[in-house]
Amino acid sequence: MPKFIFVTGGVVSSVGKGITTASLGRILKSRGVTVSIQKLDPYLNVDPGTMSPYQHGEVFVTADGAETDLDLGHYERFIGQDLSASSSVTSGKVYLSVLERERRGDYLGGTIQAVPHLTNEIKQRIYAAADEAKCDVLICEVGGTVGDIEGETFIETIRQIRHEQPRNNVLSVHVTFLPMVGATHELKTKPTQHSVRELRSKGIQPDVILARSDHTVSRDILDKIALFCDVDPRAVIPMETVASIYEVPLILEERGLGDYVLERLGLSGPRDLDEWREMVERLKHPAGTVEVAVAGKYVELHDAYLSVKEALAHAGIANNVEVDIRWVQAELLETRPAADLLAGVQGIIVPGGFGERGWEGKIAAANYARETGIPYLGLCLGMQVMVTEFARNVCGLPAANTTEIDPESPHPVISLLEEQMGIRNKGGTMRLGQYPCALGEGSLAAEAYGTNLVFERHRHRWEFNNAYRAILEGHGLRVSGTSPDGALVEISEISQHPFMLGTQFHPELQSRPDRPHPLFRDFVRAALRLAGGLPAEAVAVGGGQ
Ligand code: GLN
Repeated sequence: MPKFIFVTGGVVSSVGKGITTASLGRILKSRGVTVSIQKLDPYLNVDPGTMSPYQHGEVFVTADGAETDLDLGHYERFIGQDLSASSSVTSGKVYLSVLERERRGDYLGGTIQAVPHLTNEIKQRIYAAADEAKCDVLICEVGGTVGDIEGETFIETIRQIRHEQPRNNVLSVHVTFLPMVGATHELKTKPTQHSVRELRSKGIQPDVILARSDHTVSRDILDKIALFCDVDPRAVIPMETVASIYEVPLILEERGLGDYVLERLGLSGPRDLDEWREMVERLKHPAGTVEVAVAGKYVELHDAYLSVKEALAHAGIANNVEVDIRWVQAELLETRPAADLLAGVQGIIVPGGFGERGWEGKIAAANYARETGIPYLGLCLGMQVMVTEFARNVCGLPAANTTEIDPESPHPVISLLEEQMGIRNKGGTMRLGQYPCALGEGSLAAEAYGTNLVFERHRHRWEFNNAYRAILEGHGLRVSGTSPDGALVEISEISQHPFMLGTQFHPELQSRPDRPHPLFRDFVRAALRLAGGLPAEAVAVGGGQ
């Protein structure tokens, strides 16, 4: 029978609950306990796919094609395993399925209520996720903070699960924040006490309190929390802000979180984070630095490109360098020379995106990369940008475009599949999730992956238009990855350039700190070469699928 750990948050949001949950997963997994992680998001959207990145940051896509919360990316990166659609539950999904059943008449004239109908639906999804993962422990993180109206049904469901499961099967972890009062330079525990009181008023006594703080937390403070919140002093664990998120599992393990959690759940297994520690050491002691520009639309909000940022950090670890990111607002590239904004970088990334804003600026970034020989990595929209720029400026098709931006373009080098097939109806839905991609021998891509068939995750509608394939290839664009039947272009490369590559998929979603993505790894290696050669100790390691 699986065991459950419920992670709730108190005091304020954005204290790193997702990282904490992911770290706990890593700790348990490293001790030989099989885990899976599920996010329970209180908002009423069915999924974050339709939310603006300003609201919600990046949309993380699972292999089975679910559009989910960015915390799932942290979970996958920390526990090193793929999650699925069942790992992401929102209030929207819960309401939708209950209301659909109500409309079908499944409730036979009953009154539909939050308890038990919504709670049963949530419970069923929690149990189903544990069942599907066949894990020893399912960790469930509840989004938001305790006391949020939308979160109430999730908290009530947890209370019920605690009640119906054997005692050592369920553990409640509460993540809080200790603010510092500047005048007296004192860390305050009162908000934590209030938050725990709120949780207890819903019938949940936390077993573990993780106290996030920007300052060192003394034993006195921890003992005070233990006393006032009725928690074992061993189970009040401070979590001071650290330089890298990847240090968190090491710190929490050292402070006894793994020992305590295993003991309470009646499990055992020795500590074993040596490889993780080695990875963190490499991260903390790079031999050099490269600077990479990311030219996007939401650059003031790095969460919108979270997986790209992390994939670059992983590629840095593999190459033993620190990757500094220069966030460049793509729109600015429309009015200012690219050299003004991009000079000095050793690599340029155009990440995924939708819509018109900044499109021409991204074309300018690709143009600058192509003409100066700076390594370029185009991710989804970034490949479409790369292909369009090449068509315009190398193939002599100055009006080439994607039909997403210019539906009337005389040279739609990127178009909807329906358009390619002569169908005018644009009501296509996105291509989501994992698809196979066959690699062309001797290409940069095949060299990076070291294999000829890979599986990568997608989230897009538009595709490379095969009607232009011959002319683009004739001018030196190499199609180096396609769907196995050859019909869809998945990767393209510019032959005359040291490293200019675009993918129709999102490689960043599969990169992990201890298994960097091969394309990011080789992109950073190319950047490093440009930065002045590869230092001897900077031989890239790891990667592969
Ligand atoms: N807007 C483009 C499309 O739908 C690219 C999407 C993306 O970058 N994720 O094809």
